[in-house]
Amino acid sequence: MTEGIYQTPRIKIGNPVRLECIECGSKFKIHERFYTCPKCGGLFEIKIDLDEVAEKLDRRRLKAEPPSVWKYRAFMPILDDSKIITLQEGGTPLYRCDRLAREVGVRELHVKYEGANPTGSFKDRGMTVGVTKALEFGLRTVACASTGNTSASLAAYAAKAGLRCVVLLPEGKVAAGKLAQAMMYDAQIIAIEGNFDQALALVRRLCDERRDIYLLNSVNPFRPQGQKSIGFEIADQLGWEPPDRVVVPMGNCANIWAIYKGFFEFDAVGLTKGIPKMTGIQAEGAKPIVDAIKRGLKKFVPVKNPETIATAIRIGNPVSGPKALRAIRASKGTAEAVSDEEIIEAQKSLAKLEGIGVEPASASAIAGLKKLVEQGAVERDERVVCIATGNVLKDPEEVMRISRPPVKVPASYEAIIKQLGK
Ligand SMILES: *Cc1c(COP(=O)(O)O)cnc(C)c1O
Ligand SMILES: [Zn+2]
Repeated sequence: MTEGIYQTPRIKIGNPVRLECIECGSKFKIHERFYTCPKCGGLFEIKIDLDEVAEKLDRRRLKAEPPSVWKYRAFMPILDDSKIITLQEGGTPLYRCDRLAREVGVRELHVKYEGANPTGSFKDRGMTVGVTKALEFGLRTVACASTGNTSASLAAYAAKAGLRCVVLLPEGKVAAGKLAQAMMYDAQIIAIEGNFDQALALVRRLCDERRDIYLLNSVNPFRPQGQKSIGFEIADQLGWEPPDRVVVPMGNCANIWAIYKGFFEFDAVGLTKGIPKMTGIQAEGAKPIVDAIKRGLKKFVPVKNPETIATAIRIGNPVSGPKALRAIRASKGTAEAVSDEEIIEAQKSLAKLEGIGVEPASASAIAGLKKLVEQGAVERDERVVCIATGNVLKDPEEVMRISRPPVKVPASYEAIIKQLGK
């Protein structure tokens, strides 16, 4: 545990923390190591005793401390505080973006800059909890499949914890910044000749058969628990008043659900009132959830060969899709798809108008919001937060392709003046 940030007496949550299947409702003890429901294969959510949390919450302290994942310890299903592995994730800026708001056409727009996390994406919020759980379960090896950011984050937290880390990546498909991180943190990287969905199926089988390896993809029920803190922080940073709408890029779809849960739990314990309309954005070449929402389907239909420049959301069969559908519908939100051109345009606007550098997947939220405003699906007087999920340095090759290149001139003053123009 990092020193210095845990002076606050933490609330011990008693036993009423459990795993509950979102499909069949079966309940299991928190100590049992399941990834999905052994009865029906459904996804789990974690139920904490919110009455108990509400009772013991130190509201004055909560309002005085700056945001960070572990500020919200009371909401985290951790059994042993001494096992917490943290790189001081969370506490990311919430930028008010007036210039971008004008371009997009809404009254008030904020961008939650998750690129400011220790490894440059929101994945760190999930991994601080997930790797802590690996230690609680007494395991020495962690594994994931990844489009890049999950592996970068897991590799860092595994390094901090002294655990072995195995990552399965789609060969040749991972952005340079992300791959470089996993390599530097010394993960064992296996590049499979296939796409992300195949890599995920393989790592799930690996962790089912090798019970000594802990699976840390977002099907793991604990990771979204850490990611709930995005919702907590937004409410906190907006003066304990949730916005009208939160716009989230969707890949495997755990994050939109996690953020929803954050607002839900704050509302349940009486810290805030109301839940924002959760609005999920996918790329046109990988939009199974958008289709399901638009057509009112109960279940989504996976996309076979997902394609988009936004590699972090290039996912055809989102594991947490059923959770995304629930979050969007329960909050009266919506979903929309955007083209690669729209993503690039939004990525440039965010950088040029607000000085916020993001990877393409993150920009899809801005592009999607703009489209929804144009369609009239989002009101112009709404107060909106877009989640900028990952840092611009993650995908330098894409930036080089889409941006104005440097101009080469001789090393003379005259050449510079000539180049400068007016
Ligand atoms: C992981 C990731 C996403 C997608 O999040 P999901 O929880 O898989 O929906 C979006 N953007 C970035 C930068 C990511 O790393
Ligand atoms: Zn079940």
